[in-house]
Amino acid sequence: MSTIDHEKYEAVIGLEVHAQLLTESKAFAPVRPEYGAAPNTQVTPLCLGHPGTLPVVNENLVRYIIKMGLATKCDVAEKSIFARKNYFYPDLPKGYQISQFDTPICFGGFVDIQLEDYDKRIGITRIHMEEDAGKSIHDQDPYNTLVDLNRAGTPLIEIVSEPDLRTPQEAYAYLSKIKQIVQYLEICDGNMEEGSLRCDANVSVRPRGREKFGTRTELKNMNSFRNVERAIHYEIYRQIELIEDGGEVVQQTRLWDTSKMQSRPMRSKEEAHDYRYFPEPDLPPIRVTEKMLNDIREELPELADVRRKRFIDDYDMSIDDAVTITDSRYLADYYEDVVEFLGNPKSASNIVLSEVLRVLNERSIDIREFPVSAERVSKLVMLKEDDKINSSAMQDIFNEMLIKDNDPEELAKEMNLIQVSDSGFLEPIVDEIIENNPDEVQRFKEGKKQLIGFFIGQAMKASQGKANPKLVKDLITKKLND
Ligand code: ADP
Ligand code: MG
Repeated sequence: MSTIDHEKYEAVIGLEVHAQLLTESKAFAPVRPEYGAAPNTQVTPLCLGHPGTLPVVNENLVRYIIKMGLATKCDVAEKSIFARKNYFYPDLPKGYQISQFDTPICFGGFVDIQLEDYDKRIGITRIHMEEDAGKSIHDQDPYNTLVDLNRAGTPLIEIVSEPDLRTPQEAYAYLSKIKQIVQYLEICDGNMEEGSLRCDANVSVRPRGREKFGTRTELKNMNSFRNVERAIHYEIYRQIELIEDGGEVVQQTRLWDTSKMQSRPMRSKEEAHDYRYFPEPDLPPIRVTEKMLNDIREELPELADVRRKRFIDDYDMSIDDAVTITDSRYLADYYEDVVEFLGNPKSASNIVLSEVLRVLNERSIDIREFPVSAERVSKLVMLKEDDKINSSAMQDIFNEMLIKDNDPEELAKEMNLIQVSDSGFLEPIVDEIIENNPDEVQRFKEGKKQLIGFFIGQAMKASQGKANPKLVKDLITKKLND
């Protein structure tokens, strides 16, 4: 039985996030890797570490990392250099990785994260450039480990946070924010399940109120946001229990095992000096001019935080709705297109937050894969606002629009859903309903006014959804009050 008071302790967490950049070619070699290509086909002699080959910096690697640096309010170094990080790995034929060491190109920034009850600023220590290694494949051959070098040399940026995070939820929110920023900048697809965003979490605990940090462990191998949160949670509890049992946390790297929902030690923590970093002799320093910085600044899109505030101010949107719509740059673009067509931000957010988002969630797709354009959705909403269709017809037509390209009005006619506002057509229907439901009529007259909904429902049914409910309501009220 555990009688440990976990509240006595506070966790300290810092994340190292690797983002694979969407550059067309590799970091230092003119090859454009095709996703899913046969192993070892997307390589140049440089990727294979052949003697006599020399790296050349991909300009977009530098531009993309500066975008990230500016978006996270970092300083950008006028001059920074690459460094060799030396180690042996079967999928690293050169025997070293080109990275950056004591002169990262971006440093000293921050991001703001939003939690349920509070906001918090998380420091970014540094962002640097490096290349990825290849992949060792252990599960395809019963006897051998196979090596695929297609990934060798793909460009990465590593974003290192200050140890400012205190809970697994904050780590989750931070990671979501980083993903959102790289997606807004279009420098990385942000997909953690496919490995284009990877996260190592450094975790320590200390008695609440103590300033000195405890010894940290580093967690690897979490391939989803939820697993990062879970792994950190597990590690905090493991460390607290260890300390309470009189033990000591040892600095080590631990692997998260998703199937067991627990972590296990992988290796004792290596130190920077173990890698014998030294300045990369084959690459000149990176120099960032004022002009380059200004050009990149110009290209930056409006980021989610700014856009969210603007939506709240300009469109009178609730915070929650603004958070939802600006979560993806493309959803926010779509929404603003609908606003432009409709000239009405409220109707635009209604349709986007209800029908459009429902389909995106049901199908697990991005708005860019959504089959109905902002213009067509707007035309549908206009039909409703012009009283040509009612709201249940709007839903039916919307669903039809997902599979057919027709104009919404055409569909409405085809589906026989154009609303009837003609009292010549509606009156007989209403009369019949009144005649067939004497009990309800009686109760209505006695004061049970909610029954109006029942009568409208009956009229909608009898008219096969075509009746204008407002008109039906007026007709019934008039007749029953006579
Ligand atoms: P390394 O490259 O050896 O992992 P870094 O100096 O790059 O080391 O730091 C890695 C991460 O560890 C950073 O995000 C930092 O905020 C975090 N960190 C440093 N000390 C602690 C600690 N005591 N507890 C938790 N996180 C820490
Ligand atoms: Mg590390």
